[in-house]
Amino acid sequence: MNDIANPDASIDFSTVDEWHTETDVLIIGGGGAGLSAAIEAADAGARVIVLEAASETGGSTAMAGGLIYMGGGTPTQLACGFEDDIEEMYAYLMQAAGPDADADKVRLYCDRTLEHYDWLTRQGVVFKPEYYPYKHTNTPNEAALMITGNEEAWPYSTHARPAPRGHKPQIKGDHGGIPLMANLLCSAREKGVQIVCEARALSLVKRGEEIVGAAVRIDMQVRYFRAQRGVVLAAGGFIMNRDMVETYAPRLARGNYPNGNPNDTGDGIRIGMAAGGAVTNMHEGFICTPFYPPHQFLESIIVDETGKRFINEDVYHGRLGSAILDRPDGRYYLIIDSRHFKVLERPPMGGYPVAGTGENIDELESELALPRGALSTTLDTYNRHARAGEDPQCHKHAKYLTPLDQPPYAAFDLTVGNGGIFATMTFGGLNTLPTGEVLSTDNTILPGLYAAGRNSAGLPRCAEGYSSGMSIGDATFFGRLAGLSAAMRTW
Ligand SMILES: Cc1cc2nc3c(=O)[nH]c(=O)nc-3n(C[C@H](O)[C@H](O)[C@H](O)COP(=O)(O)OP(=O)(O)OC[C@H]3O[C@@H](n4cnc5c(N)ncnc54)[C@H](O)[C@@H]3O)c2cc1C
Repeated sequence: MNDIANPDASIDFSTVDEWHTETDVLIIGGGGAGLSAAIEAADAGARVIVLEAASETGGSTAMAGGLIYMGGGTPTQLACGFEDDIEEMYAYLMQAAGPDADADKVRLYCDRTLEHYDWLTRQGVVFKPEYYPYKHTNTPNEAALMITGNEEAWPYSTHARPAPRGHKPQIKGDHGGIPLMANLLCSAREKGVQIVCEARALSLVKRGEEIVGAAVRIDMQVRYFRAQRGVVLAAGGFIMNRDMVETYAPRLARGNYPNGNPNDTGDGIRIGMAAGGAVTNMHEGFICTPFYPPHQFLESIIVDETGKRFINEDVYHGRLGSAILDRPDGRYYLIIDSRHFKVLERPPMGGYPVAGTGENIDELESELALPRGALSTTLDTYNRHARAGEDPQCHKHAKYLTPLDQPPYAAFDLTVGNGGIFATMTFGGLNTLPTGEVLSTDNTILPGLYAAGRNSAGLPRCAEGYSSGMSIGDATFFGRLAGLSAAMRTW
């Protein structure tokens, strides 16, 4: 018995003296990517086992808002009166993914977005055909459809025609991950997938270059699971592993709210690296500071310690979070006037303290210790242009350009470390082909090894452009492809 199994070393086939069980496709992790992989592999006729470290499947996907990024004229979009175009979606997602976009994955994802919508509904997922028209982190009611990123915000709006593409499985409020994962679990079970909970994968077993199984801790014992066709790593991201975050993604270490389940410890990534897999995009992740809802706060201005604006305030909260964490030693304030006080029954979602108030802007400026005259100059310029429906400085959408000219004024403190939420999760992982095949450090395919979801680097690639729905869209879609590839492997 090999009792030194750990994520940073693979085990040689010859040292395994007893196999606990055998299957065709072994899937490590029972979240969105893992169960999607399992369903496709089972549909392709493979025997499938899912190993899940927790006592239930679901992972971060079940905790999530459940928004799934789909477009090109889905039945939900059409029922809500929105036309969309796959090329517009592609143009948007390429921008959203940023300079390190994986164009092949984005292309395939867009080309098959309607098929993926259809697949999800065939697993029992219901999208209530209602549109939620306001900027929010999720639809607060049961409506499926909303804009979930920077589609309407500059500069994204200048490159692709905006459309609402976030689709939430039907449930009231921010809990769409629950019905999604309940449906995927039922479907996997119906197809005969065997699910083993409280089973933590420790490392892979290799025969030469080929991945042929995994060492797994169950009941405090190491057991070996043989996979005849392939192993799919789908064990989520690494935001809960402080050492990995500090090593690979130090910008994310400045956040104060790791967004994920406790098993987001990067096991699958480490297991894959130990088997020879290459990683990519490890420095990137999601950085969210939810200054809305309520949506009226998009009419505010956001300034730094110089008293100047630096961003169009109608951006997705991840773009703002990214801009702030890029320079975390700065001070940041969201400035509102008396018109917004009525929405203060609900303060900004991010939990920011009030940094100052003023009967006039000079008083507020002095309370915030900003350079003399800076805030009033910023506000005068902003208001003058807002009255004309323009924002030549930061290009905020005209629908949010209400002049801030109704004193008294107040400011919320968005400064890092002063109480506001900066939630983070990782985007980096194993370097995979769209089929889920894991590439080695010398860019060859590792036979028998597949990865999906946050164990791989997929659609979401950068904090600045991220849109809600890209992660679960990626995990479920590319999870399916990884499961299918493993089930069909013939070499
Ligand atoms: C609160 C919250 C809200 C979110 N909202 C959205 C949203 O609305 N839309 C969106 O697109 N994204 C959202 N996300 C992000 C998204 O949920 C995740 O990025 C995505 O679901 C990850 O899917 P996954 O399958 O890779 O990982 P997971 O769903 O986390 O699944 C991984 C599974 O692997 C298991 N595991 C880990 N290590 C091992 C091991 N060694 N052996 C066996 N099992 C193991 C874990 O327990 C887990 O069950 C949200 C995330 C959070 C936390």
